[in-house]
Amino acid sequence: MELGVIGLGTMGANLARNAARNGAKVILYNRTPEKTDLFMKSYGKEGSFVPCKSFEEFTKAFESRKAILMMVDAGEAVDKVVEGLVPFLRENDILIDGGNSHYSDTERRAAALREKKIQFIGMGISGGEEGALNGPSMMPGGDADAYAYLGPLLTGMAASDGIGGKCVTYIGPGGSGHFVKMVHNGIEYALMQLIAECYDLLKNLGGFDNEGLSEIFVAWNESDELHSYLAEITAKIFTKKEKDNYVIDLIADAAGQKGTGKWTTQAALEYGVAVPTINAAVDARILSGSLAERAEAKSFPVMVDDTEPIPRHMKFRSSIRSGMDLSSICAYGQGFALIEKASIENGWKLNLSEIARIWRGGCIIRSSLLSHLQDAYSLDSGIAKAANRVLLDRFRGDKQKEWRQVVELGISWNVPVPALSASLTYFDALTRGRLPQNLIQAQRDFFGSHSYERIDKKGSFHTEWNTQ
Ligand code: NDP
Repeated sequence: MELGVIGLGTMGANLARNAARNGAKVILYNRTPEKTDLFMKSYGKEGSFVPCKSFEEFTKAFESRKAILMMVDAGEAVDKVVEGLVPFLRENDILIDGGNSHYSDTERRAAALREKKIQFIGMGISGGEEGALNGPSMMPGGDADAYAYLGPLLTGMAASDGIGGKCVTYIGPGGSGHFVKMVHNGIEYALMQLIAECYDLLKNLGGFDNEGLSEIFVAWNESDELHSYLAEITAKIFTKKEKDNYVIDLIADAAGQKGTGKWTTQAALEYGVAVPTINAAVDARILSGSLAERAEAKSFPVMVDDTEPIPRHMKFRSSIRSGMDLSSICAYGQGFALIEKASIENGWKLNLSEIARIWRGGCIIRSSLLSHLQDAYSLDSGIAKAANRVLLDRFRGDKQKEWRQVVELGISWNVPVPALSASLTYFDALTRGRLPQNLIQAQRDFFGSHSYERIDKKGSFHTEWNTQ
């Protein structure tokens, strides 16, 4: 099998090496040729690589059907590369965009390339630098025929799912692969924010030091419920030192973002799906970066409710763990609900169970919860019911009470808990028998004659609210 790789940055270089390790002849091109030279000097002996300095040389290096993976910055760069390559491509050649492109750009590019009979795959890739080299989770969408051709190589390159399979599957048509990757990143934002809030509470209310915090995250990662890649790396972060200082304490508290979280909240609004935990995580990053506003607000009066007792060490850490567990289930649930709605509206026919399966390894949001979600979204209703029961059981009894207490403590003591509280109110809104939106409907009808539906009879009704 031959694979072309364009863009030898962090991801492209590692994916090229991964493909070569899986027996592919890998044809290389990078806009800045020195990077290609450096690649060959560092890794050229690892496998069969063909370095090229122009698109013409690059495309001529193929002996069979061309399959080209583009690993360049999302946006204009992808369009530029496509534009430069197209004159050298033939019918049925395959272009794969492995970057974090917006799914609507993928749909646009797929439509334009279809007219030229060039096949296109929009493939979300998760796992970062290390995953790209040793096994990422890959979410390819687009031409099914192209996937049939690429499938064996991608399967070889992907991470193991832990149950005998690999973390890649054909997602669906059009931009569905990039849509699923976008939502993956939205869930990633939510989980990272939830962990950050737990850290804030444990450190500033619970009094845990960095070694204690690390030990908590090690325990989470060793537990059946909270085992996850993010818990694993968080445990390591707390013990990393630079001379006598912990690195975590030297890092500025303004988080960056590249846009996939924002895109998820935008898509959720467009598709009419509530994703409050993801929204809260995006807002929290924006607020953390609003340095001028934060500096000004330092003089605002803050009145804490110091009558709210903080539980003792072990009790407190167990309550936080309950909050993290139940909030995470809500975050994943919101992401899957968004994928499901987009799938129905676009006729993508996505298999949610398969999506949960390919997230079980390689990717940033891999966690033990995904095995339950795989079963819960499975077509086999026996397993699905069992998995749902397992997850619902986690909301019973003390765990849910502890979740409420954790949110309450944050609010009482001026520790912001936007994602923990968004998950809790999401759960409460879903489970409450009757919501107060009857009043909203009455108000809308009052000022705009928007009419309302009733619970005692069918139809659409309007009331003259000002007449007695
Ligand atoms: P890097 O910044 O390491 O590399 C970017 C690459 O894009 C370079 O090879 C660069 O070439 C090339 N490039 C940029 N603009 C152009 C252009 N106009 N024409 C041709 N080539 C261009 O990025 P990453 O490898 O980290 O990311 C690549 C893609 O993968 C992005 O879409 C990113 O969002 C996505 N991604 C990244 C992950 C990560 O953990 N880093 C994880 C998952 C996805 P040059 O050397 O000439 O500048």
